[in-house]
Amino acid sequence: MKDVSEQDLAGNLRRIAKQGDARSVVQVGDVKFGDGSFVVIGGPCTVESREQVIDIAIAVKAAGASMLRGGAFKPLTFPYRSQTVFELGMEGLKFLREAGDRAGLPIVSEVTDARRVPEMAAICDMLQVGARNMQHFGLLEELGKVKKPVLLKRHFGASLRDWLGAAEYLIHHGAEQVVLCERGIVAPHTHVPTSRFIVDLQVVPAAQEITHLPIIVDPSHSTFRRTFVAPVSRAALAIGADGIILDVHPTPEKAAVDPLQALSYPAFETLMQELRGIGTALHRSVGR
Ligand code: PEP
Ligand code: MN
Repeated sequence: MKDVSEQDLAGNLRRIAKQGDARSVVQVGDVKFGDGSFVVIGGPCTVESREQVIDIAIAVKAAGASMLRGGAFKPLTFPYRSQTVFELGMEGLKFLREAGDRAGLPIVSEVTDARRVPEMAAICDMLQVGARNMQHFGLLEELGKVKKPVLLKRHFGASLRDWLGAAEYLIHHGAEQVVLCERGIVAPHTHVPTSRFIVDLQVVPAAQEITHLPIIVDPSHSTFRRTFVAPVSRAALAIGADGIILDVHPTPEKAAVDPLQALSYPAFETLMQELRGIGTALHRSVGR
């Protein structure tokens, strides 16, 4: 694995390399990433129904979330979909849009197929590239064309150099606003068998030394375990991340996808209060 070299900074990463201390601010609706505030994105892993996502949008907004997340297209490990494991596709995306509008929250959703970029860009405020598609260069190229803000997740096997290279691809192809998202990496040992990844928190200051792009953390998909989500969220704020993205569900253990990691509404509210306390100490605003 190669580290980022001086030659990379001058050539390969010419658009995203930091020039002095200037950092870029990515604006999604009324939400700003990278301006010193701590953005909190909450919502279901998967949009399960119109009613479900509207209910979640109102709950996360009330607790102070900045944005709403929700998957309409899911890169699930196996190709089979069922009554309990499913994705609603474009219909689900429209429910997410309606929920965001009702709650007054910008929305982000994952695009898994380059062919769907234009129609998804017409609905979403921000488009997410999932970990598994980080180096799907055809997808990155299509995303560059639509000029929507992009949330670029780190592949769980990618070095910082690979990840920044993918961000450079987006901007090279025309994207103007890119936010990085650390979501855990594979390591030979995790802390419990059901925790699939290890959160690389130190990649936050490491990335900030190299690039001007904002960087957030996904404590839900990185820990894969509910009890680890709040501690890692607090650590993400303390270490200087520009935000977090969290799975929130009214009945977490019954979530259609990723039931082990979603936070309940009361757990999300408690976490928001804790984050505001840490934010005060660090002179950073948290959520709305
Ligand atoms: C998600 O955010 O729903 C997701 C699938 O995340 P990741 O790509 O990080 O696994
Ligand atoms: Mn998920």
